[in-house]
Order: sequence, then structure tokens, then C-alpha cells
Amino acid sequence: MNFVAEQTKPMVAFAHLGCEKNLVDTEYMLGLLAEAGYLVTSNEMDASVVVVNTCSFIQEAREASVRKLVELADQGKEIIISGCLAQHFQEELLDSLPEAKAIVGTGDYQNIVEVLKRVERGERVNRVSKNPTFVGDETLPRLRTTANSVAYLKVAEGCDYRCAFCIIPKLRGNQRSRTIDSIVEEARQLANQGVKELILISQITTNYGIDLYGEPRLGDLLRALGEVEIPWIRVHYAYPTGLTPEVLAAFSEIPNVLPYFDLPLQHSHPEILRAMNRPWQAGLNASLITRIRDLLPDAVLRTTLIVGFPGEKDEHFEHLASFVQENRFDHVGVFTFSPEEGTPAFLLPNHVPVEVASARKDQLIAQQQSISAANNQKWVGKTVDVLIERKDSHTGELIGRCARFAPEVDGEVFLSQGSTGLDVNVGQMVPALITGSDLYDLTGELVGAQKIVDALRVNKTN
Ligand code: SF4
Repeated sequence: MNFVAEQTKPMVAFAHLGCEKNLVDTEYMLGLLAEAGYLVTSNEMDASVVVVNTCSFIQEAREASVRKLVELADQGKEIIISGCLAQHFQEELLDSLPEAKAIVGTGDYQNIVEVLKRVERGERVNRVSKNPTFVGDETLPRLRTTANSVAYLKVAEGCDYRCAFCIIPKLRGNQRSRTIDSIVEEARQLANQGVKELILISQITTNYGIDLYGEPRLGDLLRALGEVEIPWIRVHYAYPTGLTPEVLAAFSEIPNVLPYFDLPLQHSHPEILRAMNRPWQAGLNASLITRIRDLLPDAVLRTTLIVGFPGEKDEHFEHLASFVQENRFDHVGVFTFSPEEGTPAFLLPNHVPVEVASARKDQLIAQQQSISAANNQKWVGKTVDVLIERKDSHTGELIGRCARFAPEVDGEVFLSQGSTGLDVNVGQMVPALITGSDLYDLTGELVGAQKIVDALRVNKTN
């Protein structure tokens, strides 16, 4: 995208916090401002106005957002606060931060140009819809901030579930899905821009379509996206009940859908899952993992877990530790429970002492390390496609990811050139032989020159 800035307009910087769903909103705002003639930059020092797209998921995230706001206020910047913290604490932020010139809610970022124009006129703007209903689509201009070869694609916004620990439905509203046609159109646009890895995101991607079509349609969406010329399609956030036989069939039959399952299971014990308001998950966890592995033996499984949820006793935690041991996930993220005001879990009795929760987290991480290392080791000797993302300027080593690793959260592949003598560039996808592994990463070397020439030819035509 090329936008010509108008000289009279202020330069606007963006500071981004939070998850990749928030990142897509940042990218839409960047696109809208750039299209309207504003010069946008990531360097706050260059700008008089800074849009801070904030996070409010847990206390730690709120503190990081507030630190950023205070830092910018101290530098004398005019600030527009958008995102989850803005949705959560609009009045408090306007009252306590005179430098905040506008507050923009999670369902209102599409109005960023109008908001900025009003700020330029000297107004103080509160643009927060109480119940967010908007979801961005392919008609909004978007300036991507990720590597050229990777893009997030938001298939829905909001969540209809009410997990007891989660504030997200309050901040992002109920689920609203985009149509399959709209998503496929955006995927085509991204393919034309050279994207090689498309990551489908929403709060629960397996629930995609329920609000719009009256039934979940992830299987149909994946089949439609299978027609788009993008080598890797990765699905994030699968709620276990949504991985129906039809959805699993789509994962196994569509060549460009990666057999990568991101399952935020949170816990395994039925009593804790009931307290978390995820009761229907309990009977399904282990059988689901067996079904996935039966159908897709090379499936990569990631999960996130919460320890120290109110009422979690030793026996509940031991159930979870055994579950993790038995199911041998490839990647596990462990978080200690964070009591969020405004969620049902905040009011639950029997909170677990912080030091007990931390010790459980450490134990689970230590236990998982040998499993992750052993799973990684199984890839040694295999030839895999690697999407190159960086080049070490000193050693010439190529650094990228294979399908086993999602960006930001998993490991990387470190490649030597081997004897190919070929000049491989960032953004290309090339075959490599995996020769070594450690806890998180893999090492390898480019394989036969002819295979790489063929791969690059395919890259070029895509
Ligand atoms: S499904 Fe996810 S986003 Fe929805 S309420 Fe539960 S944890 Fe929050």
C-alpha cells in the first residue's frame, strides 16, 4: 500500500500492546489513517500524537498499558487510547490523564480518522460503544506490521462463552463472524501481497459462524480457504468441543491447512472445569487428543493451562500434571490464575496463595520440558519446509519456522546453507533437513540445490 501524506496533517505514532487480535485492529487503524493522508510511524519520538492500542486481559497487561501511557504523557505527547483498556476504564482514563485526548473502544476503531480530526479541532473525544458490534473486514485498508510473509486474519470478533476467569466478552462483546466470502476475499488479497502463512484468529475459532449461519462453519471455511494460493493456513484457538469429525476431516484433507492444534484447555479436572464454567470440556479432553492423533499422526499440539484457580487443591493439580504427562503436548503455556474484577472467578472463595500457584506453575513447566525436548527430537532426520524470517548478518545463518512452530509463541529453525551455495532470501519457503534439536528450537541445513530451486520457483509463482 502506498499512501502520500498531506503536509498539514500531524504525524501519528502507534504503540501496540496485547494479543494478535488487537494487532489486527492496530493494522486497520494504521491503514485508515494512512489512507486519509496522515503519515504514520512506529517511532513515538517523531510524532506529536500517539495512538496507544492497549490490553486489559489481566492485571499484568493493564500495568504494562498504563506504564506506556504514563511514559508518553511524561514526554508531552497527545494520546489517543484505544483497545481493551479503553473499553474497560474509559472514564477513569479520561479523568486521570489530561494528556488523553480521546478514548476509542474495541468496537469503534474504524472511526479513528474522525476521532483524530476532532482531536485536531481541540475536542476531547469519548468514542466507546457500550456493546461492541463492529468487526473489520477486507474493505478496510490495512497496513500490516508483521513480516511480509505472515498475516493474521480475524474471522470473528467477540465471544459468546462466559468462562469464569475471563474478562474478554465484557471488553469485546458477543461473537460476530465475518462471512466466508469476506474472509476468502481478504485471504486472496493477502496471497497477492506475498503472504505464505495465514493465521486464522478469533476468540474461539471453532465457533466460527454460529452467530451468522446458526451453526459452526469452520470446516466449510477451511475448505473455501483451501482454494486460496497460500501454502500454510494455521488455525489458532480451538475450543475442544468444536473439533468435530467434520472439522478434523477438513484439517486432514486440505493440503494447506496445517495439522497444528492450538487448544487452550485451561485445566483437566472436571471440578475445576465446572468452576471455570467450561463443564462440557471435561469428558472430552483425552478422547479428543486421541482422535486428533489417530487421524493426523504428525499433528502438533499446543495448549495453555491455568494453575491456582480458586479451589484448586493438590489433587486437582495432580490430575492436571498427570494429564500433561500422559498427553505429551508439543508446546504448553502455563499461567497462574489472575483474579479479574468483574469476572465471576474474582468472587469465588478459596483463592490459592500466590506462592502455591507459582510453585505449581514451575513444576508443570519443568515436567513439560523433557516432553517438549523429546517431541522436538523426533523431527531430527526429517525434511521439512522452512519459512525464512531472518538472516544472521554475521554468520549468514538462516532463521525461520517450520509448520511445527507458530510465530511468537513456539520455537524457530536455525539453518546453515549446507553445500547448496544458493542465495535464499527472507520470506522464502525452502526445504531443509533437520539435523539437531533442543528444548524449543531445531537446527538443520538446506537440502539439495535442485529441490530449493524448485521450491523457489513455486514461491515465485504464488
Ligand atoms: S472461550 Fe476464551 S475468550 Fe471466551 S470467555 Fe472463555 S477464555 Fe474468554
